[in-house]
Amino acid sequence: MAVRNIRKDNDEVLRKVAKKVEVIDDRILTLLDDMADTMYQAEGVGLAAPQVGILRRVVVIDVGEGLLELINPVIVYENGEQIDEEGCLSIPGTRGEVKRPNKVIVRAQNRAGETVEITGTELLARAFCHEVDHLNGVLFTDKVIKTTDPDPRNTASS
Ligand code: ZN
Repeated sequence: MAVRNIRKDNDEVLRKVAKKVEVIDDRILTLLDDMADTMYQAEGVGLAAPQVGILRRVVVIDVGEGLLELINPVIVYENGEQIDEEGCLSIPGTRGEVKRPNKVIVRAQNRAGETVEITGTELLARAFCHEVDHLNGVLFTDKVIKTTDPDPRNTASS
């Protein structure tokens, strides 16, 4: 396991569409391990593979409820809306309010290749949306309603 370098700001890899994972091999399992290490070291709540330079549809999330590993995640349901502050490990120093659905169901494969569906509300729903956007080359700054000053009490970034 290892901490990988987080790609930042204008790195063009952040704007590319990640490819579906066809085979969950050792490289993907190592990627999941390294992404979790990298996310925790950066004190983030989520990380998508393009943020470490790998154009595969792989995401890790931990909003304080345990580690979620998502391979080929797809949002299959969304409902309601929430507006809250968001940040990104790839865009340090920038935060802003983004409108997201308040409830999201994501379908993905886990590391065993099993299909799972996970329901998230509030911060977890926001993280699902933020990370799936990363897989499509979309950054939260594309969706910001209002830029906010960095608030030391709210440091969740993904
Ligand atoms: Zn991000």
